[in-house]
Amino acid sequence: MNLEELFKENKEQTIQGRYLTLEHIQPLLDKLNTNNQVKLIGKSVLDKPIYSYEVGSGDTRIYLWSQMHGNESTTTKALFDFINVLNSKTDLAAKLLDTFTFYCIPILNPDGAALYTRENANKIDLNRDSQNLTQPESNVLRKVFEDFKPHYCFNLHDQRTIYGAGDFGKPATVSFLAPSYNEEREVNDNRLKAINLIAGINDILQEYIPGQVGRFDDSFNINCIGDTFQFLGVPTILFEAGHYSGDYSREITRKFIFFSLISAFRILSENDLVDNRFYDYLNISQNKVVFYDFMYKNIKINYDGIEIITNFVAQYKEELIENKIHFNAYIAEVGELENYFGHFEYDGEGASYSDDYSNFPNLNQKADFYLNKNIKFVNGLIKS
Ligand SMILES: [Zn+2]
Repeated sequence: MNLEELFKENKEQTIQGRYLTLEHIQPLLDKLNTNNQVKLIGKSVLDKPIYSYEVGSGDTRIYLWSQMHGNESTTTKALFDFINVLNSKTDLAAKLLDTFTFYCIPILNPDGAALYTRENANKIDLNRDSQNLTQPESNVLRKVFEDFKPHYCFNLHDQRTIYGAGDFGKPATVSFLAPSYNEEREVNDNRLKAINLIAGINDILQEYIPGQVGRFDDSFNINCIGDTFQFLGVPTILFEAGHYSGDYSREITRKFIFFSLISAFRILSENDLVDNRFYDYLNISQNKVVFYDFMYKNIKINYDGIEIITNFVAQYKEELIENKIHFNAYIAEVGELENYFGHFEYDGEGASYSDDYSNFPNLNQKADFYLNKNIKFVNGLIKS
């Protein structure tokens, strides 16, 4: 199977970029709803609809939800690309629909999606509410779990650009976790199913993004939804869409999430999960905080008359302004930062720092500055 071709043919062209709300996906849901496959399954804190889309008639039930965190839209885009495959009337579609029943919640947190926040409108992180179930969105997710009785859960997220796969200077473009079901982080049959599936997806991804797959920390936290569902006996896989070089709109990472979904269902449909692949799973690089968006090296700074040559870093803040996400770079840290990398790196070779206020990069100020008074940086990047 040519995954690149499959993606090209099925990419949902009407959605793109980072800001993805109910309004953006409503036309898609309307188009999909030919025979009541789309259902209103609940309301958010601000009374917005939470929709599900159910398709397929197979015995293996797959539950997928995305945008539990409102500003994590990459997996939602990939989910619609995958849904296009399911509706493509091809042999592949027929096989998938015959093997599986898919229950999808494309945007679980529509208020957070509109506000571009991780949390819901009550400022609650829904991924810490799986025991107390204080929020309407948490209850919707849980009720489907109980009624649909999935064989597998796919917990779809984005992660920030700060994560690398290991500490080799490679971004964690896609990361996975088979969450623990107990404090001891033991492996039972259900967790092993999730582990084996991740190992299988990783085999495929390594062909396309070698060294850019990460494995998330498996500390047990029953308040997290993945840990709860794993604890309740259903193999659960956390997907984290991360950074690919230069791809701040996450259109390239979207493709790799699509590859991951296709690969997962191919592995499951071929019943290719017989071996114990625990050690292959452990060999996936650990997801680690090792990146900033910008790193400037060997910069001469003047602090109270003392000159030193050091490094500094800047980080984008994603700011929602008039329905658009703006990536604004701010100074984040000054120092050697020896175990860190920049997605953008610049070696100043001793050039002197200055900005409109001082000769020292102040934390949280916009990354607008000069080197040797003649190379101008605006919003982190060289202005030509
Ligand atoms: Zn998340």
